[in-house]
Amino acid sequence: MTPTLPKPTANIPDRAIYERRESGVRSYARSMPRQFHRAQDVWMYDNQGGRYLDFLSGCSTLNYGHNHPILKQALLDYIAADGITHGLDLHTDAKQDFLETFEELILKPRNLDYRAMFTGPTGTNAVEAAIKLARKITGREMIVAFTNGFHGMTLGALACTGNAAKRGGAGVPLNHVSHEPYANYHGTDVNSAEQLERRLSDPSSGLDAPAAILVETTQGEGGLNTASPEWLRKIAQIARDHGALLIIDDIQAGIGRTGGFFSFEGMGFTPDIVTMAKSLSGMGLPFALTLFRPELDQWSPGEHNGTFRGNNHAFVTATAAIKHFWSDGRFEEDIRRRGALLEQRLDAMAAEHGLSTRGRGMMRGIDVGSGETASAITQACFAKGLIIETSGAHDEIVKVLAPLIIDDAVLSAGLDILEQSVREALQGSYDIAAE
Ligand SMILES: *Cc1c(COP(=O)(O)O)cnc(C)c1O
Repeated sequence: MTPTLPKPTANIPDRAIYERRESGVRSYARSMPRQFHRAQDVWMYDNQGGRYLDFLSGCSTLNYGHNHPILKQALLDYIAADGITHGLDLHTDAKQDFLETFEELILKPRNLDYRAMFTGPTGTNAVEAAIKLARKITGREMIVAFTNGFHGMTLGALACTGNAAKRGGAGVPLNHVSHEPYANYHGTDVNSAEQLERRLSDPSSGLDAPAAILVETTQGEGGLNTASPEWLRKIAQIARDHGALLIIDDIQAGIGRTGGFFSFEGMGFTPDIVTMAKSLSGMGLPFALTLFRPELDQWSPGEHNGTFRGNNHAFVTATAAIKHFWSDGRFEEDIRRRGALLEQRLDAMAAEHGLSTRGRGMMRGIDVGSGETASAITQACFAKGLIIETSGAHDEIVKVLAPLIIDDAVLSAGLDILEQSVREALQGSYDIAAE
């Protein structure tokens, strides 16, 4: 069966209102100049009848695709019954359902004992709460974060983010964070976890005792660098030995993206604190969560407050998503199979052009060497109806974040477009090199 294929339109719609009234801070809209109208499953439609295959998924916010019918129905039913939309942090039916489902289907089967803190609704809020709590508990200021780490745009999280262009927006010094080399930052011969241990154990290294070590198991925005379970276990041990809390930022790598509900499952360590957002609501609704061991729940009431803590509509869709996708192992099996297909196809593309691949599970990409080449590839993909983005220090990684529910044949069809676009872009550069 031939899958439905993308059908992009060439017409660039009138952008005058955006140019006149929307802030210049907009970014994705610049590389995808269409007016989007609706979206379903893995497809986005523009207002001129064009159809696009979504290999960006809201940066892994739409792991279950757009407007999943089961999630959508749950939300429609809830709204139709005048369910609570906003209730500060009041107890609501939607919150109870979420907490009970999360306990039953996510925490218990994984033998995890966490308290859930509903922070403000975006990922950066969850990170702010995590590092604030670690500093409060330990009485220490310094956070160890890593090269190429990405943790959000508010000042505390931004201080933990590596990217210079993003940091530059802060306008004030970003202090109290030490950016240590991530796994394999200096190549596979240097164990950066051992280096960190040595520095923390040396009273003259100049590295202060940290409140927390904050790390992604696979770096999303930073270029799909992966850390091995051994490296991460070592980091967990270092945190324990040095009285620091281990925070896993699972905002992008979690919720199935790299395999399990949590990206660290089966790796042989348990984080003290976990941050979640992006695909947690399952439908693209803003919703963030900071999880921590019950003993760490040392907040006093209202100490970390906010008007939008716990989004009741997101409780409803997150609960429906957990029940539908995570009550047995079938979804994880699908992710494994699709991840293997993705790996094999990207490896073949890389081999053809002497390039390398990165990532884990359904969070993978191809290192094409420069941001210019990567941008030529993503633009060629977009012209063929494939929405895809880049990541990495120089935006040199073309990153595939297809919805996890994607049909295998559609995934292959999208990868055909990528393969062809990589060929076109690199052929161009061979031609330039030959001249
Ligand atoms: C996206 C992201 C964040 C920030 O989330 P926002 O919702 O954009 O504030 C933090 N950490 C990681 C790993 C992310 O991918």
